[in-house]
Amino acid sequence: MRQSILFGKTLRKGPKDEISKNANLLVRGGFVAKEIAGIYSFLPLGLRVLDKIARIIRGEMNDVLGAQEILMPALHPIENYQKTGREKIDVLFHTELASGGKLVLGQSHEEIVVPLAKHFISSYRDLPLGLYQIQTKFRNELRAKSGMLRGREFMMKDLYSFHADENDFEKYYERAKIAYKDIFEKAGLGGQTYLTFASGGTFSKYSHEFQTITEAGEDTIYLCKECKIAINDEIIGEQKNCPQCNAPIAKLLQEKAIEVGNIFPLKTRFSDAFGLSYIDKSGQTHPVVMGCYGIGLGRVLGAIVEVHNDKNGIIWPESVAPYKVHLIELRTKNLELSDDPVRGAAEKLYNHLLAKGIEVLYDDRDDKTAGEKFTDADLIGIPWRVVISEKTVQRNAIEVKKRDSPGSELMSVVSFLQNLKVKM
Ligand code: ATP
Ligand code: MG
Repeated sequence: MRQSILFGKTLRKGPKDEISKNANLLVRGGFVAKEIAGIYSFLPLGLRVLDKIARIIRGEMNDVLGAQEILMPALHPIENYQKTGREKIDVLFHTELASGGKLVLGQSHEEIVVPLAKHFISSYRDLPLGLYQIQTKFRNELRAKSGMLRGREFMMKDLYSFHADENDFEKYYERAKIAYKDIFEKAGLGGQTYLTFASGGTFSKYSHEFQTITEAGEDTIYLCKECKIAINDEIIGEQKNCPQCNAPIAKLLQEKAIEVGNIFPLKTRFSDAFGLSYIDKSGQTHPVVMGCYGIGLGRVLGAIVEVHNDKNGIIWPESVAPYKVHLIELRTKNLELSDDPVRGAAEKLYNHLLAKGIEVLYDDRDDKTAGEKFTDADLIGIPWRVVISEKTVQRNAIEVKKRDSPGSELMSVVSFLQNLKVKM
């Protein structure tokens, strides 16, 4: 991508009313643009990151959990919520049909997926089943001051699993725990994200959250250094020991954290509401046992920014970076474009990297100084910075710097490709 035509520009200062670090850096870097609090547009750079997070999630859903992707509607008939008793929940946005009839905007999809599954599940042969989607959710959140961490409109991956009995559900739930751990690791949050015991609501003792430790977090968790799990503030209640290794609660570390995902046993709460049942081998009818599993994509993106940054900007983990290489051309002073060997060398390298399948953002802008280009590169946070200048052309080399290390190095294109682990 040529930066001269990239939609979205870097800003020296974030919006005055933007108090969250993630949104400040993302707006300044040209990743997102704010509409009102909790409602953002994703610009090309931001969308690329969101897509990479989605790709990591889809990989685990499809290949590890054997779930199937669907896409459900965002407009939900209120009657479905009346069946589950959730029509009064505070975050619901309400609207109506021109022809009469009340609707809500989807804040979660149990009320849609269960009636949908009921069309197709009738026998034990139809189970187990995992259905997921990546879709926009709408929640009338009272406070939306945390940028990507708490949107009023945000992308969520929601998975629903359907089982013949508790035993089958529990096996799947354990696999989901591992898949979730791998997702956060692949997205660059492995070092800061902990499986956290949370309250199970009325239908089970525990559910589990995945909490990323960050100052920007809205939750408080108690971290057990012994067994590397945590307990949410809300469930600590009468608890005197770590539910996993029995260490006394007083020994646990109190940390601020943000819930990036959760997994939740639903038992037969929603199956009962809609009469979702199946017939077993002997012809007997049973309610379907369910679980649900959420991840906020924008929240993960925001958490990555909160965790990986320095005073100059974002430091993207390679797996989710918008581009792998930021190629920066520093034109020779007083030379016409057509006479400048720097332009020729930069164009050649750009095309060479593209031919190798490497994602490159090429700073070919003519109206920016070297200082401005470097400041922008640090802010945008692409993992590898490559400079082509009069000096590098003379030495038949390129200047390479990693975003997260201080010094740069002159090297040949071949050694650079070896560093990137690209096949020759
Ligand atoms: P929270 O307690 O933070 O409001 P929640 O318990 O409402 O979260 P769920 O309804 O289970 O969360 O949603 C599943 C996932 O969706 C969460 O783990 C989180 O990653 C994400 N999520 C929830 N609310 C928001 C929001 N307002 N903005 C962005 N992501 C969100
Ligand atoms: Mg919530």
